[in-house]
Formats: sequence, structure tokens, C-alpha cells
Amino acid sequence: SDLTAKILGRIRDVPDYPSPGIVFKDITPLLGDHVTFAAVVDALADELDVDTVVGIEARGFILAAPVAYQAGAGFVPVRKKGKLPAAVLEESYDLEYGSAVIEVHRDAFAPGERVLIVDDVLATGGTARAAVDLVGRAGAEVVAVSVLMELGFLKGRDRLTGVDVRSLVVV
Ligand code: IMP
Repeated sequence: SDLTAKILGRIRDVPDYPSPGIVFKDITPLLGDHVTFAAVVDALADELDVDTVVGIEARGFILAAPVAYQAGAGFVPVRKKGKLPAAVLEESYDLEYGSAVIEVHRDAFAPGERVLIVDDVLATGGTARAAVDLVGRAGAEVVAVSVLMELGFLKGRDRLTGVDVRSLVVV
């Protein structure tokens, strides 16, 4: 579609970042183009009935906050370990080398609250899986995970069975 072409035209491939052999999808050209940025936010917020939009640090914040505003929902940050000031729940997950921990405030959600999780890129799915588990443990219901771009060849979707995973483009 028109939106797909606009998105693909404004995502830059950066070879060997953050390490040799990785081709990083850089969304900063898209964010800098107000027409495409707005169209992406509208598409991510489209036909959503949620109480809260969760953004995953850091690029997820950039998309999730305007999506929350557009959807008439609140915004909740899921952050890397040690960044949130009040009492947290944490979830650890494996990376290619080592592991990572994400956190959310324990009192971020009312019981059964309907939540959309937003991030920029779905790669192996480890981050999204951890976020889904974390939000569930915090007492909310994950309605969907929405990303701007899905790296289909990494099969991140397979780690999210039972979750409604939506992506604006798949590469
Ligand atoms: P995953 O956990 O392997 O699915 O990686 C997804 C997380 O890493 C997301 O939070 C993304 O922001 C980030 N990420 C992985 N690959 C890329 C990329 O090529 N461009 C931008 N972000 C990426």
C-alpha cells in the first residue's frame, strides 16, 4: 500500500551496527518526516479499544506516546533495569550474548486493564515476549503487540503464540 511504501522509503539500513554482520533498521528518517510519522501513529492507533498504551524503552516510547494520545489512552513506560523510581516488577530475558532486564511500576495498571504494547521493531521477539509477560504479571490484559516493522526472517512471532501481533510492514 501507499503507507507501506512510505515507511519502507524512510527506514535506513545501517550495516554492521551495533556489531559486525548486523543490518540495523534505522527509523530516524521516518521520524523526521512529519507526514509519514503522523501516518504511522494513526495506523498504530487505528480501531483500538484500549485503556493504556505501553511503550518499550527507548524507541518504543517515541511511537507509543503519540499513539496513546491519539487513542485516548494513558501511557505506561516499560524501562530498562534501574530507571523507574517507585516499586517495580521485573522480567529478564535472554539476548544473543547475556541477558537483559525490563521493569514496570507495580501499580501501573488497574486489574484487567486493556493494554496495547508498542515498539519500533520486532526482531527475535525476546523483548516483546518479556513485555507481554511483565504486563500480564502486573495485572493487565494485553490486547495486542503493535510494531512499526517486523523482521520476518527472525520469526519473533513464533515466540508470541496466543498474542495478537500486528506490524505495519514485514521485511
Ligand atoms: P528482539 O528482542 O530481538 O525482538 O529485538 C527487539 C528490540 O530490539 C526492540 O526493542 C527494538 O527496538 C530493538 N531492535 C532490534 N533490532 C533492531 C533494528 O534493526 N532496528 C531498531 N531496533 C531494533
